[in-house]
Amino acid sequence: MSPQGIAKLAAEIYIEPDLRAGMVLYKGRLAACSLCGDLREGIICAHCGCFVQFRARTVKGYCPHPDGDKWPVGIGA
Ligand code: SF4
Repeated sequence: MSPQGIAKLAAEIYIEPDLRAGMVLYKGRLAACSLCGDLREGIICAHCGCFVQFRARTVKGYCPHPDGDKWPVGIGA
């Protein structure tokens, strides 16, 4: 499946508003993933094996890179 297809599925999953990452945060996270050498096929993180489009949707989601979290901070929930 394409990154766009996975993102569409991720967008259809209901997440409580308090737990949901805002669109700016979500897109910032995916932008960081797109620049990461550990993103596979545009959708899978090599460190956790998850679809980043799903992982990035929750406020409490984090980047599991062993050198430290690569996702942006301070751009809103
Ligand atoms: S290590 Fe972090 S930035 Fe890289 S693909 Fe995984 S979640 Fe995205």
